Amino acid sequence: MTVIGVLGAGQLGRMLALAGYPLGLRFAFLDENADAPAGHLGDLTVARWTDGAALDAFADAVDLVTYEFENVPVAAAERLAAHVPVFPPPRALDVAQDRMKEKNLFKDLGIETAPFAPVDTRDDLDRAVDAIGLPAVLKTRTEGYDGKGQKTLRHRDDLDPAFAAIGGRPLVLEGFIPFERELSILAVRSRTGETASWPLVENVHREGMLRLSTAPALRAGGALGEEAASIAAKTLEALDYVGVLAIEMFQHQGRLLANEMAPRVHNSGHWTIEGAKTSQFENHLRAVLGLPLGGTEAIGVSAMVNLIGETPDPAMVLGIDGAHLHLYGKPVRPGRKLGHVTLVEAERPALHAALARIAALVAEPSLSR
Ligand code: AMP
Repeated sequence: MTVIGVLGAGQLGRMLALAGYPLGLRFAFLDENADAPAGHLGDLTVARWTDGAALDAFADAVDLVTYEFENVPVAAAERLAAHVPVFPPPRALDVAQDRMKEKNLFKDLGIETAPFAPVDTRDDLDRAVDAIGLPAVLKTRTEGYDGKGQKTLRHRDDLDPAFAAIGGRPLVLEGFIPFERELSILAVRSRTGETASWPLVENVHREGMLRLSTAPALRAGGALGEEAASIAAKTLEALDYVGVLAIEMFQHQGRLLANEMAPRVHNSGHWTIEGAKTSQFENHLRAVLGLPLGGTEAIGVSAMVNLIGETPDPAMVLGIDGAHLHLYGKPVRPGRKLGHVTLVEAERPALHAALARIAALVAEPSLSR
């Protein structure tokens, strides 16, 4: 029986395993955290990413390695790759871990981004602000996620406190984009070179965290859809990528600017479990195994609501027709992604009605807009 080794054992690993069981796959996870939520679905090795002996033993126990967590040290992925196939390639991990490398890759591929400049010192910050202007967003180059490690700069007075808060490590300054909306594209490339992408997703973030995804995004067919698919195709090709890749973008003055990429299945693709012909999780597994990819068409229209910091009464959620509840089995903690609800309907008016019912159960302002 094929054993998939997954680096990281969070909710994404859990959902990968749930998608893989029908294909007869087994799962082994490696995580630093003993109560990681995928541990309920496969063997969990608890070890540091720097523990070479644990990595070698893990490689011996699995047929291939993939990851669900993008801050796995590249050295760990490379060590594993010496023993066993690792997908996506460690280079994708390397690029995605550093906002400068990521933006330079987009630039090299002719993909538009916000203006950006590296910032290492306080003087660099002045120079970058002179070049880019204000408002701007100062971000850590590495280990930033869910809005952590970033500060919006509106006035010159904001520079000192922002640098004091997140400086002292490599940063990047980006022009602030007053976007019309945020979109993401999820695409997949198999070991065979076959590629596919799902319809564009519209995302609403608050405090840097994804709150709501709607798919297919409204008014996102035609040229916009083609532009997004081309951004994804170029990136997949450049990285000789295998697996699911997510690219988050801003729509600004009708154009797409790439913001960042995730070399893994992604929160804005959770709707595909019930809302697409084949989910991102199943297609990721098909891709890394070199199996034919499944169709990526949407089945009707979907909305995905993240459950952050608290979860509603399951009976109330499940009382809504068309609602699918996913709880990740994590201890409740403020600001933590604990689960999500996906709503799938044939038409948008019914979707909006179901969303209004979820809004009554989940204290999330973006649902009531
Ligand atoms: P990130 O960690 O880069 O995904 O940023 C988290 C969220 O902050 C994004 O989804 C946007 O809502 C917002 N954001 C990040 N960068 C910018 C920017 N350059 N201009 C405007 N909003 C931004």
